[in-house]
Amino acid sequence: MVNEKIQKGEEHLLHIYNRFPVALDHGEGVYLYDTEGKEYLDFAAGIGVTGLGYHNKELNDALKGQIDRLCHTSNLYYHENCGKAAKALARASGMDKVFFTNSGAEAIEGALKAARKYAWTKKSGRYEWIAMEHSFHGRTAGAVSVTGHAEYREPFEPLLPGVHFAKYNDLDSVKALVNEKTCGIILEPLQGEGGIHPADPEFMEGIRKICDGNDILMICDEVQCGMGRTGSMFAWQSYGVRPDILTMAKAIGNGIPVGAFAMTDDVSKFSLKPGDHGTTYGGNPLACMAVLKVLEIFEKEQIVEHVKKVGKYLSRRLEELADKKDCVTGRRGTGLMQGLAVTKPFAQINQRALEEGLLIIPAEGNVVRLLPPLIIEEKHVDEMIQKLDKAL
Ligand SMILES: *Cc1c(COP(=O)(O)O)cnc(C)c1O
Repeated sequence: MVNEKIQKGEEHLLHIYNRFPVALDHGEGVYLYDTEGKEYLDFAAGIGVTGLGYHNKELNDALKGQIDRLCHTSNLYYHENCGKAAKALARASGMDKVFFTNSGAEAIEGALKAARKYAWTKKSGRYEWIAMEHSFHGRTAGAVSVTGHAEYREPFEPLLPGVHFAKYNDLDSVKALVNEKTCGIILEPLQGEGGIHPADPEFMEGIRKICDGNDILMICDEVQCGMGRTGSMFAWQSYGVRPDILTMAKAIGNGIPVGAFAMTDDVSKFSLKPGDHGTTYGGNPLACMAVLKVLEIFEKEQIVEHVKKVGKYLSRRLEELADKKDCVTGRRGTGLMQGLAVTKPFAQINQRALEEGLLIIPAEGNVVRLLPPLIIEEKHVDEMIQKLDKAL
């Protein structure tokens, strides 16, 4: 019944997504409800977006108030939400200058342009990129150029020239690709789509050193792993390795479409200037109200501290499950960004999980990826384990 209804509803949508057979209707806390009223414990968070869960009254009231006052101005005019959100995000991310976008891929586009402009101003002749195998940076032309999946790139080639892919966590493979044309090195401190692979501290430190020694810019993509998810506000902070450019999106607006790229003052002096870049919607008063409120709630409710605590509990419970189940071969990740490598097909596990009322998502390499709202408590971890155990 539901499947037929969904199929009919999708009649005029371009068939791009192989969706799961669920039609969602509303959410409350860490639970989602479908159109038939069935309850799901959410360990997907809309792919790591809804960190504060659903129906957060303080956030929703702020958004409703902003809708009634003003949603859009264009960037021809200043709106104080934009300045305030940039200040709060710079403080939270440890960066200096922020540009708001509408998505993660657009944040990547901006980061790539910012690095190219830096090299152009310095007349360094550098324009090439080093990116990582199994990385994911989005679906626009620039973002897909640096994404480490040939099948995402090939139908759209030729893409950006001079992109070289190194092995993640293999510093020698990065060193082997560095040359006088290298403009930037882009990586996720914790690969999400690629199968939940955290960077080794030596890898992050080594890349920082290579960049410092050659005036190459280090770009960290924290669209998925940022905003508290790994148990620090941004993942780079747990390594003490500050990137030159940082990209953000997903959880910074809790579902209002907003992303950002940010840079250090040292980069911005030589980078984008008026006329070099722009967006009509990006950083509009509604999106910036979302960022402002989300950051305010993060601080007030000490979300990062909470993630650290409940993340440890999640690790422990997942290790127990992995020990108990033959079809689970390992656990990876940290905080509330974790994955289980499994031997059964994801589709089969997911089908059973949906029946049990649990939302999970896949990652590369047959991994069950768990990205719950950051407000989950130990009792929700227990409920998830019980449901996943059955599904496995
Ligand atoms: C999701 C994601 C993107 C792309 O973000 P969109 O908002 O889908 O464009 C980029 N980088 C990483 C690491 C992501 O997880």
